Amino acid sequence: SAELVSLEELTGTDVDVAADRRTVTVDAGLRYGELVTALHREGLALHNLASLPHISVAGAVATATHGSGVGNRNLAAAVAGLELVTSDGELLRAARGDADFPGLVVGLGALGVVTRVTLDVEPAFQVQQRVFEGLPWSTLAERFDDVVSAGYGVSLFTLFGDDALDMVWVKARTDAAEGPVGELFGAREADGERHPIPGIDPAPTTGQLGAPGLWSDRLPHFRMGFTPSNGDEIQSEFLFPRRHAVAAIEALRGLSGRIRPLLQTCEIRTIAADDLWMSTAYEQDSVALHFTWRQDQAAVQELLVHLEAALEPFGPRPHWGKLFLADAA
Ligand SMILES: Cc1cc2nc3c(=O)[nH]c(=O)nc-3n(C[C@H](O)[C@H](O)[C@H](O)COP(=O)(O)OP(=O)(O)OC[C@H]3O[C@@H](n4cnc5c(N)ncnc54)[C@H](O)[C@@H]3O)c2cc1C
Repeated sequence: SAELVSLEELTGTDVDVAADRRTVTVDAGLRYGELVTALHREGLALHNLASLPHISVAGAVATATHGSGVGNRNLAAAVAGLELVTSDGELLRAARGDADFPGLVVGLGALGVVTRVTLDVEPAFQVQQRVFEGLPWSTLAERFDDVVSAGYGVSLFTLFGDDALDMVWVKARTDAAEGPVGELFGAREADGERHPIPGIDPAPTTGQLGAPGLWSDRLPHFRMGFTPSNGDEIQSEFLFPRRHAVAAIEALRGLSGRIRPLLQTCEIRTIAADDLWMSTAYEQDSVALHFTWRQDQAAVQELLVHLEAALEPFGPRPHWGKLFLADAA
């Protein structure tokens, strides 16, 4: 029979750095915000982060949570080893290279309770974040790959206005080629800090305007200690092969009249392919279309019928941790 296990008391905060400083092993319930504090002390970094540091390592890994960047795989792809307690109480340890390891990592909680996770790390790096406004849809269609490759991580935000995207957030590493400054394919650099949801105070967001900062203070959009996003919302997200990005965005623009009334913001990101069986980026370089909806589940579900149908030709994979209608088949 079905059983649920509460992990409320899985609150350990151990972080062990390997002797070669290429991996760290952490308690699974640790939140990324706590992990980055420990990594700072060691001068180490993860390759990428999601839009917020509030989530746990185990929860993010189990659901294939991702950040952005054409060369960046999702957060689960950094997992080099796992320890879990299976339903018969056995302790199972597995490492990258073991048979079936790629089936264990994005496990959706179905394989047992993950207690320790080993993650790849690298030397700490710095990032500059800049926001560009008003990129015409026609330019995005012509230059999609160039736009999403403009930095280490790029996020596009839109409310499906008629002429242009609202914002392009570019996160560029200071140890790589400089990201765009002042202008990006005709979009102008914002004259102040911005929140991903237009009209909301940008105080909770990470530093922008090109000020260099630590990887962990720039790769997420939201700072630890503040409410991420709006806090009152429903989310959906669909991933599919990046080569379909322009056609899929066009299909959604055809639904914009229905989408706009329920939408707080839509974010478009890219994720590099991985080999994790249940990953939304399994064996395909992907684009992700995320929707932050108003808190009206009945209306959102009604809209999802049309939205999932519009995306169907592109082979969408729903984000495991967000609202979708598609069944197992
Ligand atoms: C404001 C906001 C912003 C977000 N931004 C992003 C983003 O940028 N990118 C993205 O991809 N997603 C994003 N998400 C979605 C989020 O990353 C996922 O929902 C993630 O699962 C949340 O992590 P959690 O620690 O809260 O998970 P939980 O809700 O605690 O766990 C999710 C699932 O993971 C499994 N699980 C958790 N812990 C364990 C364990 N110890 N052992 C076994 N299984 C376990 C269980 O199946 C559980 O139901 C966002 C969500 C919010 C609310």
